[in-house]
Amino acid sequence: MTLEKPAAETAQHSPSITLDRVVKRFGDNTVLHGVDLQIHPGEFIALVGPSGAGKSTLLRLLNGSHSPTEGHVRVLDREPARCSRRELRRLRTEIGFVFQQFGLVGRLTALENVLMGALGSLSMPRYGIMTYPKQLRERAVENLERVGLVDQRFQRCDTLSGGQQQRVAIARMLMQDARLVLADEPVASLDPAASISVLETLKKLSAEDGFTVVCSLHQVDLALQVSDRIVAVRDGQFILDKPTHTTDEPEIRAIYQAHRGA
Ligand code: ADP
Ligand code: MG
Repeated sequence: MTLEKPAAETAQHSPSITLDRVVKRFGDNTVLHGVDLQIHPGEFIALVGPSGAGKSTLLRLLNGSHSPTEGHVRVLDREPARCSRRELRRLRTEIGFVFQQFGLVGRLTALENVLMGALGSLSMPRYGIMTYPKQLRERAVENLERVGLVDQRFQRCDTLSGGQQQRVAIARMLMQDARLVLADEPVASLDPAASISVLETLKKLSAEDGFTVVCSLHQVDLALQVSDRIVAVRDGQFILDKPTHTTDEPEIRAIYQAHRGA
């Protein structure tokens, strides 16, 4: 981080994300019913809730893919809905994305895929990885090391396990130096052991680098294990928003109920 001091101070003190009475409607379908939320720099938020609760919609409001029908969404000191295309592109360079489908190129190696995250470029240079500056190649290797996959760097991604592929995707995202990471069900297609390994990796990186994470999760037990704070969504409302370590049994049951969509 080489931010000038005043900027660094502002970044530390202002929330990463503020939702102010946000309503989102698609036609007659009201998906978010006037929700408020503040997320502070460095927090790891787990967004839990049943399918159709509005988690992906919320994440799309944060990256500017959707605009709120009412209310305001502020992300990293900007309001995506009011950004020009250019400002939105700029904002998105500060946001890392992790998806359920890892979005890797299977026939390329782990290292090549990570390099593709450099400078937001999503295509390989015509003449391969050696045309990338040495410094970037070193960073890519370093990032693979940080996710525990340096030994697999020359392996094609389609020969890696699901959990390994998601960790490559995280290493690729790290090339961006994001201040905020939005992860939409990043472990939905993984088995429990791989899920934990991916989430623990993300958690460790966020603690080391200080980036904020908003991660939607299908399984509440995973949310309880890795997050700092749980926001439970049900029918477009936040039915619980608490630090994870103070969330007790009855509340956990309530979250589970919300999760089942009872
Ligand atoms: P979750 O991610 O929690 O499963 P979503 O945010 O995907 O929930 O969906 C919440 C509701 O919003 C659903 O009823 C879904 O049909 C609706 N919805 C989501 N995206 C759109 C869209 N682009 N157009 C119309 N309806 C949508
Ligand atoms: Mg979703």
